[in-house]
Amino acid sequence: MKLDVLVNDLRCNEVFGTVRAIVYTIEFQNRGLPNAYILLFLDSKDKNFAGDDINNIISAEIPNQQTYPKYYNTVCDFMIHGPCGIVRPNSPCMSNGRCSKSFPKKFVDVTSVGEDGYPIYRRRDNGRTITKAGVELDNRYVVQHNRYPLLKYGAHINVEWCNQSQSIKYLFKYVNKGNDRVTTSFYQSATDKQSGTTIDEVKMYYDCRYVSPFEAAWRILGFEIQYRCPPVELLNFHLPNEQSIYFDEDAPIVVIVERHTVKHSMFLTWLEAYKKYLEAKQLTYAEMPTKFFWKQATREFVPRQRGFSISRVFYVPPGSGEMYYLRCLLNVIRVSTCYEDLRTINGVLYDNYRDACYALGLLEDDKEYIDGIVEASQWATAGELRNLFTTLLSSNCLSRSEVVWDKCWTYMSDDILYKQRNILNFQGYP
Ligand SMILES: [Zn+2]
Repeated sequence: MKLDVLVNDLRCNEVFGTVRAIVYTIEFQNRGLPNAYILLFLDSKDKNFAGDDINNIISAEIPNQQTYPKYYNTVCDFMIHGPCGIVRPNSPCMSNGRCSKSFPKKFVDVTSVGEDGYPIYRRRDNGRTITKAGVELDNRYVVQHNRYPLLKYGAHINVEWCNQSQSIKYLFKYVNKGNDRVTTSFYQSATDKQSGTTIDEVKMYYDCRYVSPFEAAWRILGFEIQYRCPPVELLNFHLPNEQSIYFDEDAPIVVIVERHTVKHSMFLTWLEAYKKYLEAKQLTYAEMPTKFFWKQATREFVPRQRGFSISRVFYVPPGSGEMYYLRCLLNVIRVSTCYEDLRTINGVLYDNYRDACYALGLLEDDKEYIDGIVEASQWATAGELRNLFTTLLSSNCLSRSEVVWDKCWTYMSDDILYKQRNILNFQGYP
């Protein structure tokens, strides 16, 4: 109930500005209460923030105890990190002798956005302190927050400014990580062993998923684990006569192939919509759901009366042949009523989608591979991108691999600082 009201507050009461989209994921901890990771996408008018604007919505300082006693106490209860470090080395945040959340932060007089896209919040050395567990803590230990939800909900609500696609990608990675897993084993007692009964070693080991009591209750009650608004429509596409169809395994083949829905795949229906609707002619396939909606019952695209939806044409990795080239064309071509139209460029009908892409200038200097890696970088980890690049190298797809490397190496290495820090931590460097 609290989460629903909070999400409604953020969307309708515009606590942080006009919200265009919202995504959240619930993470369950082995101990303690579940966490909600909420990502808000603000309207462009509320997006270009400088340091001072960030100060208006995010604070990382202790409030004045005399003027705002309730605010002061709430920050003390929920938004102070620690004590940790030398004064409390057994704090749960401590790892290899240092705080894994990098507290205490540094004192700074003004908020600024660092080169890596992460802001450095204002934490002035103004003498204000809060005493926790007998230790006096100053602004360097305050977790960044917003006063309004903090006071209204009386809970730990950390607010972060997140303005770079890379940091957003890692937040998504984090919010989408799966369950904790445990490998557990069942022992047979020594007396059984002595009695000579056969031991089935496979049965003795089970790979299990750990579900905490909170998570069990959350799932039994049917609450959302993930939520997003507006909805994202997944658009499928296929080569001629390669649409997926569903059928019962004992259904006669004649009945299956003659079913009228066979010719009404989402993709074929899109081609039909161009014949019917004038306004469809301004839209690529991916733009279709902004003005039309897919009516599952009648299997057709019909003009949208209200609302809007964003869409995603499912990903096909570069190197997978004609499917990949067809997808390249779908991203740029606006009017086509059949497969032949898609590979007709400037009045010339090409034999295949690759040649059509070439005629459109989409393939110069391995551009299709560069585009494929750049697109995947929006959601894939750097490790996955390196795998994709090595697959392309070893399958001889690239004609100028050094050009692809020059254009893409930053995406393939964006975890290097993280890895380096872990190695340094592991070696016990300060
Ligand atoms: Zn700490």
